[in-house]
Amino acid sequence: MSNATDIRNTYRRTRTGKWAVMGTTANIFPGARVEVHTKAGKVKHEMIIEIGRPFEIDGIEMVYGYNPDNASLAALEGVTYPCDECGHEVHLNTMCRVGGFRH
Ligand SMILES: [Zn+2]
Repeated sequence: MSNATDIRNTYRRTRTGKWAVMGTTANIFPGARVEVHTKAGKVKHEMIIEIGRPFEIDGIEMVYGYNPDNASLAALEGVTYPCDECGHEVHLNTMCRVGGFRH
């Protein structure tokens, strides 16, 4: 068993196109400086300014953290994320064939 604090933070993109850092509520809170693990195996550092509404995954309370002023979230190289619309693991700036927007 792993503690909630051991679960890695990852990048996610929300339905509204915002970038977010997803992690446990133990790690993601306003003012937190966090490590975020990319799919490419890189570790980035982000400052969390706002958080969304917590939700549960496998009994662990998770939340999206946002940093509205941090452009690095949108400029990451090699980042992929699971698209809610087409269901694929996608790269930034590719067209979503299902949703008709840019990933
Ligand atoms: Zn898509």
